[in-house]
Amino acid sequence: MINSERMTNEFIEMVKIDSVSGKERAMADFLKLKLRELGMEAYEDDAGKTLNSGTGNIIARLPGNAQGPTVLISAHMDTVEPGVGIKPIIKDGIVRSSGDTILGGDNKAGIAIILEAVRKIRENNIRHSELELVFTIYEESGLLGAKNLEYRTLKGDIGYVLDSAGEPGVIITSAPAQDVISANIIGKSAHSGFCPEEGVNAIEIAAKAIAALEIGRIDEETTTNIGVISGGKATNIVPDSVLVQGETRSRSRIKKDMQTRLIIEKFKEVALSHGAKVDITVDPLYFEYNLDLEQQVVRVAVAAAEKSGLIPKIKSTGGGSDANIFNEMGIPSVALGIGMTNVHTTEELISIKDMEDCCIFLLNIIEAAVSADSN
Ligand SMILES: [Zn+2]
Repeated sequence: MINSERMTNEFIEMVKIDSVSGKERAMADFLKLKLRELGMEAYEDDAGKTLNSGTGNIIARLPGNAQGPTVLISAHMDTVEPGVGIKPIIKDGIVRSSGDTILGGDNKAGIAIILEAVRKIRENNIRHSELELVFTIYEESGLLGAKNLEYRTLKGDIGYVLDSAGEPGVIITSAPAQDVISANIIGKSAHSGFCPEEGVNAIEIAAKAIAALEIGRIDEETTTNIGVISGGKATNIVPDSVLVQGETRSRSRIKKDMQTRLIIEKFKEVALSHGAKVDITVDPLYFEYNLDLEQQVVRVAVAAAEKSGLIPKIKSTGGGSDANIFNEMGIPSVALGIGMTNVHTTEELISIKDMEDCCIFLLNIIEAAVSADSN
């Protein structure tokens, strides 16, 4: 039904284009060319200017030839590092990197699937409602592209983000909110041998605060982490400052807020008891989404998975994606499993069969959306 070889070749071509976050220019140019070849109107928004990078998000539109909700379909153009000079290797139906870089299937597999689906629609004259393709920048560093996307021009009624681990058929209907917390502890330096009592040891305070916290999995939908600690100058100096950075996540906003508050309070309490100061900033990175199974975006995906011979698996996740931002902006969206495996590591791989299944799944989503208004 789909042209697997064409999709695979295009995928390989794309993973060879370097596009680590903030450096998506070459990838955007390639994509604009491909979209125009497909007869789509493709343009770049102003997110690149806002984010001080040379590239904006790409938005492309295919007017519908049938009634139905406007379907937003999305993947991101950027990759994590090490993502320069990727040399993909295909063996036994699996694509992986040569081992010294990531593969970049996260998320170029998603892009390849979308391009093949649109090509198939054109070739086979498949009935579809209006399609809105969105290819974002900077997804891997705080969903910044999606946050700065030009929403006023978007018409998406339902959204599908092809950017989740898990096999085709996995439908992510629930994802957490996340706060990033930075605590800068300010103590007082002193010579560690001559007069340690005159100092206030910022590292000791950080250690005591962290030791008193609950870190890791808090409950089924809530996690916390301390991920970065930096400070101190030399072993013979009582350190006067240390920066601790961590995060809290939960699919329940109340629980996430509660964990953030517990961390702030603990740092303040320990700092105060040692005569230190602490400056704390909280950056709410994104908000949670929890979709109802009765919502159109979910119903369409479930029906399409069944039609594709896949088992629809409704799942929640512990990670955020552009779907969080689309939901926040009022476009009910789910993330879809596309078979990406070991993402963000040099062991990353994806099977061509999963990409094929996912492309058929996406085509069935597009077809199911046509009749979705009436059922
Ligand atoms: Zn991704």
